[in-house]
Amino acid sequence: MGGMNDMSSPPPLTEPRPPRQRKPDWIRVKAPVGKGYQETRTLMRDLSLNTVCEEAACPNIGECWEKKHATVMILGDVCTRACAFCNVKTGMPRTVDPLEPEHVAAAAAKLGLQHIVVTSVDRDDLPDGGAGHFVRVIEALRRETPGTTIEILTPDFRNKMRPAVEAICAAGPDVYNHNLETVPRLYPTIRPGARYYASLRLLEEVKAHDSLIFTKSGIMLGLGEQRLEVHQVMDDMRSADVDFITMGQYLQPTPRHANVEEFVNPKAFAAYGSIARAKGFLQVAASPLTRSSYHAGDDFAKMRAAREAKIAAKAAQVR
Ligand code: SF4
Repeated sequence: MGGMNDMSSPPPLTEPRPPRQRKPDWIRVKAPVGKGYQETRTLMRDLSLNTVCEEAACPNIGECWEKKHATVMILGDVCTRACAFCNVKTGMPRTVDPLEPEHVAAAAAKLGLQHIVVTSVDRDDLPDGGAGHFVRVIEALRRETPGTTIEILTPDFRNKMRPAVEAICAAGPDVYNHNLETVPRLYPTIRPGARYYASLRLLEEVKAHDSLIFTKSGIMLGLGEQRLEVHQVMDDMRSADVDFITMGQYLQPTPRHANVEEFVNPKAFAAYGSIARAKGFLQVAASPLTRSSYHAGDDFAKMRAAREAKIAAKAAQVR
């Protein structure tokens, strides 16, 4: 302890903005080359499944696919929204593939997954926003691989959120994830088709339907948000009883997307992580390469253990 810097101001939480697209060392990742990666890729192609890993140009694809962990993206590969951070194609989507639920279940079985993450594009064109398809995917997974725990990451189901959430919760996923993505001030530029408080309400609604479903939400850092705004998002999530927060560095997929305003350094991520834990989340993932689905299986196991420990501690108090 101690040292001559003790009384000086704390180290800056962000690095000065580097020239555009030059990533700091802590962001660099290895190119995907392994055998596991190739096998995962072949299986996804054979079953005509899209993955957010590829569509979002995720930097973790080498590591995740090597371990056979891929996040399936259902309801096609064309999104009806055009968020400034997202690499998924925008336009008029094609019809929904009725065989997709079976294909997702077959992939989970072949990959031997203990935990699967299923996400989708936004389908504002469908009367139910695609909720029924999520339900069919959950049902197929329960039927074909009953031992696999299911995490879904859904859109906001704008203007049809209540019935969508009700139907999905009734199907009983283990984790319901919906990302807030950024602080409310940046919504008009970063997530123009969405509303911050509507997304927050969706998370509340899930808990209201079934308090046993774990809820999860995440934000990207480096889009120009202020530290106190991030703390406020954490508070908002906690008041919606969100169990798990993820925080990762925003990376610009192409020059047409929103600029990276800053590369938040690993120490700053650790500081945000400590604050989130102090605010009472059951599980926290905060690092430059954190993504919603990064290490999702391990984190799910930790979150479940944390809930059990909390319940046991409460019971001991009563005795
Ligand atoms: S972090 Fe998620 S999106 Fe990225 S490669 Fe891993 S599973 Fe895919």
